[in-house]
Amino acid sequence: MEVVVSDRFPVRDAKGNVVVMDAVALNTCGFINDAKEESVNAVLSAIEAKKSGYVRAVYVFGCLSQRYRKELMAEMPEVDGFFGVFDYDDMLKALGVSESVEGSVERHLTTPGHYAYLKISEGCNRRCAYCSIPYIRGRHISVPMEQLLEEAGLLAARGVKELIVVAQDTTYYGLDLYGKRKIAELLELLSKVNGIEWIRLHYSYPAQFPEDLLKVMAENPKICKYLDIPLQHSSGKVLESMKREINGIQTQNLIGRIRESVPGVVLRTTMIVGFPTEDNREFVKLLEFVRKNKFERLGAFTYSEEEGTYGAIHYRDSVRKSTKQKRFDALMELQAEISRSWNESRRGSEETVIIDSFSDGVFVARSQFESPEVDGEILIDESSLYKRFGRDVEPCDIIGTFAKVRITGSDEYDLTAEFI
Ligand code: SF4
Repeated sequence: MEVVVSDRFPVRDAKGNVVVMDAVALNTCGFINDAKEESVNAVLSAIEAKKSGYVRAVYVFGCLSQRYRKELMAEMPEVDGFFGVFDYDDMLKALGVSESVEGSVERHLTTPGHYAYLKISEGCNRRCAYCSIPYIRGRHISVPMEQLLEEAGLLAARGVKELIVVAQDTTYYGLDLYGKRKIAELLELLSKVNGIEWIRLHYSYPAQFPEDLLKVMAENPKICKYLDIPLQHSSGKVLESMKREINGIQTQNLIGRIRESVPGVVLRTTMIVGFPTEDNREFVKLLEFVRKNKFERLGAFTYSEEEGTYGAIHYRDSVRKSTKQKRFDALMELQAEISRSWNESRRGSEETVIIDSFSDGVFVARSQFESPEVDGEILIDESSLYKRFGRDVEPCDIIGTFAKVRITGSDEYDLTAEFI
């Protein structure tokens, strides 16, 4: 079976001819309203493609499909099958594939060949008041270390150089399986896999943070000095009502310890504005916290009430939509300033980057401080390649390789650079 990864229809081959797909399989998200909307739009565009004859069958799986299967079946009869998050075998059967996924760790990469996501566990044992994920994906189940190391080895053998470690809660890793948190040990072992040069950690939950992780991050050159730590808020009152198991002072102390233990670390976080217990005073506290801690990267969501969650059952979604939006705008405006000034401070610095892609005469690259998709990019003009290496090097030769660059320019999100 030939698999094509694409987010638009019709799919075309290298010569630009339309390829009629036997089936399209869409993974959906049911986390928050925006994500649900995006998923529904993707399904609608697949249905359109089916009507236009570009696709013969449409299958939908993932969280949204698991949660709202009945409603979706009624609303979208053109879809040939809806599956839940763990119904892989049923989906393979529908696609006419005889194999079972059980026992196989080999997978089709949906990323460029030089980086891959490594999912180290499934589900979540926390009960954040706003979040429906534990109800959809179940309790935390860590993938055994040997299996992850085997998968990392297979990925490295196929040319993957950067592993992006993900899970709903990466800092919980190991507690269910080994009786203790083992994320630090796992990263150390992954760094020994031949061919893996960078390891990046996402979604590290702040409460009961495993401090041994900081030592590994500070000392192991293969572990990116980059930590994604979703904090969601800084006010004790809001954090308590969000059931985040950490208060404002502990949060501040943790950020201080991380910065001190891992010099130069880049922190990415997310915040939720407009949670029912967030009044203007708590929001101002959040702005002060962000101003003080200068997170290099910060994303925000406006609170949306999710069916069945503690928040939906126990709190009234009392903050007006317009107020949520104003708070979101104020927070993102502040972050834009912080991000612009951090990017500016990188001008003139020499950094190692990995080249992700090349188009229209520009290379898109990232340093250890940028994660794909969510962070900014480092853009390098093609002329810089010829200036540095002469005409013998073709742009496509260096995609997926590491290079040394000097940062020459910046704005609030992206940087420009030249090869050195
Ligand atoms: S840690 Fe909280 S926000 Fe993250 S998946 Fe678990 S319950 Fe949801």
